[in-house]
Amino acid sequence: MPKSEALEILRRVFGYESFRGEQQDIVEHVIDGGDALVLMPTGGGKSMCYQIPSLVREGTGIVVSPLIALMQDQVDALTELGVSAAYLNSSQDWREARAVEQRFLAGELDLLYVAPERLLTERCLDLLSRGRLALFAIDEAHCVSQWGHDFRPEYLGLSMLQERWPQVPRIALTATATEETRREIAQRLALTDARHFVSSFDRPNIRYRIVEKDDVRRQLLAMIRAEHEGEAGIVYCLSRARVEETADFLCRQGVQALPYHAGLSQAVRAENQSRFLREDGLVMVATIAFGMGIDKPDVRFVAHIDLPKSIEGYYQETGRAGRDGMPASAWLAYGLQDVVQQRRMLEESPGDETFKRRQGANLDAMLSLCETVSCRRQQLLAYFGQRIGPCGNCDTCLEPPESWDGTVAAQKLLSTIYRLWRERGQRYGAGHIIDILRGKRSEKITQQQHDTLSVFGVGADLSDKAWRSIMRQLLAQGLVMTDADGYGTLALTEASRAVLKGERQLMLRRESEKAARSSRASAKARPALLDLPPEALKVFEALRAWRAEIARHHGVPAYVIFHDATLREIALQAPESLEELGQISGVGSRKLEAYGEEILQRVLQPVL
Ligand code: ADP
Ligand code: ZN
Repeated sequence: MPKSEALEILRRVFGYESFRGEQQDIVEHVIDGGDALVLMPTGGGKSMCYQIPSLVREGTGIVVSPLIALMQDQVDALTELGVSAAYLNSSQDWREARAVEQRFLAGELDLLYVAPERLLTERCLDLLSRGRLALFAIDEAHCVSQWGHDFRPEYLGLSMLQERWPQVPRIALTATATEETRREIAQRLALTDARHFVSSFDRPNIRYRIVEKDDVRRQLLAMIRAEHEGEAGIVYCLSRARVEETADFLCRQGVQALPYHAGLSQAVRAENQSRFLREDGLVMVATIAFGMGIDKPDVRFVAHIDLPKSIEGYYQETGRAGRDGMPASAWLAYGLQDVVQQRRMLEESPGDETFKRRQGANLDAMLSLCETVSCRRQQLLAYFGQRIGPCGNCDTCLEPPESWDGTVAAQKLLSTIYRLWRERGQRYGAGHIIDILRGKRSEKITQQQHDTLSVFGVGADLSDKAWRSIMRQLLAQGLVMTDADGYGTLALTEASRAVLKGERQLMLRRESEKAARSSRASAKARPALLDLPPEALKVFEALRAWRAEIARHHGVPAYVIFHDATLREIALQAPESLEELGQISGVGSRKLEAYGEEILQRVLQPVL
């Protein structure tokens, strides 16, 4: 049985010592001809699960992948490893496509990447039936789910692969999936007999942090400067305008940032994406249109400056940080305005009741993650049905927030809304209500004679910031709602009554003083990647400069040549022979042969 061949290929071709997690079981299962549904977090090593069986089994592995840019990078990376791979997509002219088809028919390809709409054409199906197929791999399989956030109608057609080629094993892979999505994938792709491989979704190297928003662009800038100066990152925003304005702001502050959203021309998007992949240390400011299939391993941070709409989306987006296993951050800033805005958008959305209910549940889960006083990771993983203990690598573990009895404060706030409505027939937004509570004689308050309300000034003991936090949590818990008038004015809910009447105690979250300080603090430690002894640091920098040159020369992203983690390991180990160099994780035989001598030279004499 050619199973030991799998390990041999992992070592020789990819330069990795051993399989990770469930890779080995999956690889063996597919080599044996079994179907598989693979759930693995981003960075878990999904590609290996179909690349190695494609190399071991007779024939070509057909990989269905939704993104052209991704295919290109994967094929480049495989070619660098000495694997025979190609793709068929709309970026090619017919001559190039013909050449690929010939190679496939001649049995010269180990892997062939195809876009789903292309695959389903008669021409392509006919082509495939004339060659030998090792397997079908369906990447980003959650695209088949209509309820998910990346639905692609072309994916629905893929169930026919089973009818047409029942004997060819199929492996579907995704990084997002709740129970529900998983069932949907299996059903829609006709993977009814497939074995399910569900890995732990934990990404221990990512540090999760959720901060209270005040001046979000400044906070973002401070975070980048303090922790990720000169490193690659992604900043997610909800709207195009916010993307533009945030990218501009960062550039003016000396952070190299690029915008990405659906309103930019195809050409500009492609250019920015390619720069982000190829150049070191760029920040991409984007809507969620950006990122699926972005394989860049050295994204050091993912920041959200607007509240994501669901935990599934949030987890998928943050998962793009730290695929190389080195420390990375997921940073989210969220505030009262986010809650008001998203609740309002939900109420105004034209969708049917089921849709709204679903979106509402998604938002509630997201808000509860933001307001939790326990471990963020625990709560995230629980959402995907997985249990762990407190992680020690999220903000609530590192700087535990306090919880306090906010019942009386909540009553004051709720009665203000109640009195305004009962006594004056008026509704107001959060800012004005807080002014009344704090007894502020603003122009609007004197004009409206709100200083004569019995609740005027009853909350003077708490700061503006504290009240905003309380308001946010009441909104998050559905104890206050935004009115359907479209102005963000606030009203009570059914659930408010129990709190007002004192029948329900309300525990609220208060950020620890230390956390508040450290989110403002600036100077901090060097990025983990550069945390090396001076000698090794010099070698590392020299290797990076060398790599940049090779990458430019080959027209591929730097990480296709070597990952940072591999260069870092070389710098630390300082190998003196090809044999020693070959032992380092990420150095396969082809790269050893191609680059070994040059690397040893730079280890010996690190010139920049
Ligand atoms: P995914 O597609 O699941 O997000 P990838 O297949 O891109 O993940 O793998 C993530 C990174 O981990 C890649 O850089 C890959 O080379 C590396 N990797 C995968 N399997 C192993 C392994 N067994 N040992 C070491 N590194 C691995
Ligand atoms: Zn934790």
